[in-house]
Amino acid sequence: TSRRIPLVAGNWKMNFDHLEATYFVQQLAWKLRDARFDYKRCEVALMPSFTSLRSVQVLVESDKLRIRYGAQAVSVTSQGAFTGDVSADMIAHLGCSYVIVGHSERRKYHPEDDANIVDQVRAVLAAGMQPILCVGESYEERRKGIELDFAVGQVHDVTRDLSDEEASRLIVAYEPVWAIGTGMVATPQSAQDAAKAIRDDLTATFSTTVGDTVRILYGGSVSSKNAVELIGEPDVDGFLIGGAALKVDELTKICRLT
Ligand code: PEP
Repeated sequence: TSRRIPLVAGNWKMNFDHLEATYFVQQLAWKLRDARFDYKRCEVALMPSFTSLRSVQVLVESDKLRIRYGAQAVSVTSQGAFTGDVSADMIAHLGCSYVIVGHSERRKYHPEDDANIVDQVRAVLAAGMQPILCVGESYEERRKGIELDFAVGQVHDVTRDLSDEEASRLIVAYEPVWAIGTGMVATPQSAQDAAKAIRDDLTATFSTTVGDTVRILYGGSVSSKNAVELIGEPDVDGFLIGGAALKVDELTKICRLT
């Protein structure tokens, strides 16, 4: 059994304005309180749009909520003439704990390559937050049977130059692209195989401590129907959740099952 505390992280993508976001956070907090949810047993985090972060911060701080939150992407530069970008310090100053880095939708719709993703990871770490680094194969790689090498390679290439201390603050989300938003979930065994392969590579690249510390989440069509089986796997330390994180009852259920 591991000492890693599981994390349930909701990626809201481009959904909810600041009023809907704060209403959702309040409802989730109430429902978890009614269920006597133990936040020491499992961490809960939400990733709203930039426009909602300040409102979520005010709510969380004024009501002393235990729900954490973060951003969905970050600029690689710290300040200056970068119209439309948001820096890691700006995000950290809003009380964010996490930033999603390298989500497959960002890799697809924005020019985010490995070099850019390395710089995002560094920016997030330098600002004192934890990056949730997203990796995972497309259907093409899975068809060829190279999904494990592919996902491990993505983590390795992005993290190899980090210090042990930096690497120990990483969170990795294994998200097979074919499973995101499709209703097709990876089998518990294949989520476990990928998480184990990534963990073994972190241990080999850094140390046993890093390998034992880094939380590896599964993402891709997670719901209250499949969460129990997935979290039963020894190297799966929680979830990154898209669609099911937009429904408060469903998300409450997943938190309780994790
Ligand atoms: C995601 O976008 O990170 C994700 C896992 O989405 P979904 O849960 O909707 O598949």
